[in-house]
Amino acid sequence: MSEPPAAGRLVVVGGGPSGLAAAWKASAEADRAGASLEIVVLEADDQVGGKARTEQAGGYLMETGPQGFLDDQPVLREMIAACGLKDEVLAPEPAANRRYIFRGGRLRELSRNPAAFVRSGLLGPLGLARLAMEPLVPARRTRADRTGRTDSMSSGSAADEDESLFDFAARRMGRQAARRLISPVVLGIFAGEARKLSAAAAFPRLVAMEEAYGSLFKAMRAGRKRGAPPPGHRTFLQGIQSLSRAAVAQTGIEVRCNRRVTAIERRGRGFTVTSSDRDLTADAVVVAADLPAAADLVKGVSAAAADELRQIESPPMAVVHTAFDSEATAHVEPAYGFLVARGEGIRMLGCQYETATFRERSPDGTFLTRSMFGGGVDPEAAGLDDDELIDLTRRELRRTAGIDAAPIYTSVARWPHAIPQYAPGHPQRVARIEAALEPIEGFHLAGNALHGIGLSRAIAVGAGCGERAARRVSTE
Ligand SMILES: Cc1cc2nc3c(=O)[nH]c(=O)nc-3n(C[C@H](O)[C@H](O)[C@H](O)COP(=O)(O)OP(=O)(O)OC[C@H]3O[C@@H](n4cnc5c(N)ncnc54)[C@H](O)[C@@H]3O)c2cc1C
Repeated sequence: MSEPPAAGRLVVVGGGPSGLAAAWKASAEADRAGASLEIVVLEADDQVGGKARTEQAGGYLMETGPQGFLDDQPVLREMIAACGLKDEVLAPEPAANRRYIFRGGRLRELSRNPAAFVRSGLLGPLGLARLAMEPLVPARRTRADRTGRTDSMSSGSAADEDESLFDFAARRMGRQAARRLISPVVLGIFAGEARKLSAAAAFPRLVAMEEAYGSLFKAMRAGRKRGAPPPGHRTFLQGIQSLSRAAVAQTGIEVRCNRRVTAIERRGRGFTVTSSDRDLTADAVVVAADLPAAADLVKGVSAAAADELRQIESPPMAVVHTAFDSEATAHVEPAYGFLVARGEGIRMLGCQYETATFRERSPDGTFLTRSMFGGGVDPEAAGLDDDELIDLTRRELRRTAGIDAAPIYTSVARWPHAIPQYAPGHPQRVARIEAALEPIEGFHLAGNALHGIGLSRAIAVGAGCGERAARRVSTE
């Protein structure tokens, strides 16, 4: 049985950050235009938040997905204000500026201070010399530069122009820096391999820096001269899930949980959305489900776009929280944590020192850590059972951080499809997906599959979809 259509109805599939941003922005846009728009969010899970999930137990506050977000999107700030969370935004402790890489059997500080960086031994003399030459390395010429053409076909977007992140880093900074610095850093963001990620899609800022200044160092120097601080890392006092919860509570968005959408089909100028509940008709749809569910749902409107989405891998991850008595971690230098270079015989991708970063996360006298496993580099690790993962975490924290004690609290979370991997050729794939979906009026694809895997980008993309959907429905 179909629910009767309202004057204008937008159905959002997925109550994660991106879907809720879409619903919030659509509602604000309809209010602004004085239009009547019914907005329904269908969420498969029993709660909102998607991977931005906060768990509290034993006095600990644990983030099982994102630990924080980058404060780089004006629309995210707008959403935070609309949700009444401005005063809840939390910045990390100053100690969290310190980060380490485990390489050559010990933790080495990734320092911004040149003398300390040289002393860290992260790079050898040849690697350092090559890194220092970065400003002299000519910028890469795209096909457009070579041919002098500026049309979209020649703007450096052909598949052969899309460099892997590793190749980009090796070309600019040298192979040693690509292997010893960039590859581990990428583990902390994509949980993926630098050789299997597109530089342009995964780190568009780096590519833009080269394009604008001809050199990463020159671009950084120019940024410092302009006094432009890099965007900060932030979270909320009550955890990252606060934003999704507040979006629902403060803006009155209608969310129906435990409703898994199984199909979306075109119907006249609108859509029929089939879920584990009854069917809904909609004038516009925003799909903000994560991969691979998004691909299955897009299939109903464009088989070509769905096929392309299916090619984007999102391997599994496990997140292990372990808390220790702080006496057992007294020797641990307060820091954000560390990443582990591959080839060290360690499966952990990295470990965040939660207590040192956001002191509110654990009771006094304890030290909470969060270790990551799996991802594109070692998907099998995410399949180990809980006891094996906790055991592995203990062994590897002993080898890396020298934490020898038994944990006083443990918890394991898993994501079967954690973080989309933007492979070389991703920009071209995005263009094909968007070209296939563009003619389907009222259909919008949000989420983090295409335009940035981070929370702030997923929110910006979702808000953009919500705004466009509301405009279309309100002007009909
Ligand atoms: C371990 C880990 C660590 C991360 N760390 C960071 C970090 O530190 N900083 C950062 O910025 N980002 C981080 N991320 C990425 C961040 O989680 C994503 O950017 C963000 O969750 C994307 O939001 P979303 O709404 O697009 O998708 P999701 O959060 O995945 O939400 C999708 C929602 O859709 C629902 N859904 C799926 N299928 C259906 C269906 N058929 N019907 C109805 N509902 C459906 C799901 O249940 C879910 O609620 C991390 C991710 C992981 C896994």
